[in-house]
Amino acid sequence: MFDLTGRVAVITGASSGLGRQMSKAFAMQGADIVIMARRIDRLNELKDELEKYNVKVLPIKCDVTSIEDINESCIEVENKFGKVDILVNCAGASKDAGVLDMTDEEWDFTVNTDLTSVFKVTRAFANIMKKNNYGRIINISSIYGLVGNKALSTVAYHAAKGGVVNFTRAVAAELAKYNITCNAICPGYFETELTKDVLDTAEFKTYMKSTVPMQRYGVSGELNAGAIFLASCEASYVTGVILPIDGGYTCV
Ligand code: NDP
Repeated sequence: MFDLTGRVAVITGASSGLGRQMSKAFAMQGADIVIMARRIDRLNELKDELEKYNVKVLPIKCDVTSIEDINESCIEVENKFGKVDILVNCAGASKDAGVLDMTDEEWDFTVNTDLTSVFKVTRAFANIMKKNNYGRIINISSIYGLVGNKALSTVAYHAAKGGVVNFTRAVAAELAKYNITCNAICPGYFETELTKDVLDTAEFKTYMKSTVPMQRYGVSGELNAGAIFLASCEASYVTGVILPIDGGYTCV
């Protein structure tokens, strides 16, 4: 089970953090990988690493807020592989502020990067999946897409990630007839470039211990099993599912 040999997986946000970790996990399962992000130097380094698993790797410089970049990426992927089996929408970034102080620019940046891009990338690649009557879409939302929080003022991020959760359900319902599943993963606190500055503080560690039942942050690789499961051929009847991987944060 869970062998991805012969599958083509497109992963956005592959240049660091969770996207990079999932790219490696999918390559280890045998999938050919399209790694996308803006920092092409990082993707080229990752390509060398992934090719050790005897899979084909295509790095593409793509800003997920640019429709031109998204459309060009689709053409490149179709030209090289002729199909897309798996899409992981992982790219994300946030400008943080509370509802009383957030500027329009901060709101638009966050919603464009974390929600609108997921729609545009999904639209583009799901149209390729449809031709093949097969697909697995995995959206990386967040625990902040499910609940609010008392530690940080991140109102636009909550709105965007909550949008990703219900976008996932809508897409699951719409694309089921094409044998395309769509599910979301809601990670808890994982130390990456995005979160390091906050997670490293003594104050946040204390907050985490009182709110995460497992009393620790997620470590590199702990998202992978969930992602591989949802990407697998075997998960053919699993769609519209919102899977928190959060050490229990959202169960209390
Ligand atoms: P990182 O900052 O390590 O990675 C973010 C990735 O997104 C990078 O590869 C970056 O690549 C890419 N990215 C950002 N903006 C754009 C853009 N405009 N176009 C293309 N790529 C972009 O963060 P994480 O790995 O932590 O985050 C990955 C996802 O997981 C995000 O969606 C995040 O919201 C979510 N998440 C993370 C949690 C955590 O604790 N770490 C918790 C919950 C959710 P580049 O800069 O090269 O373009």
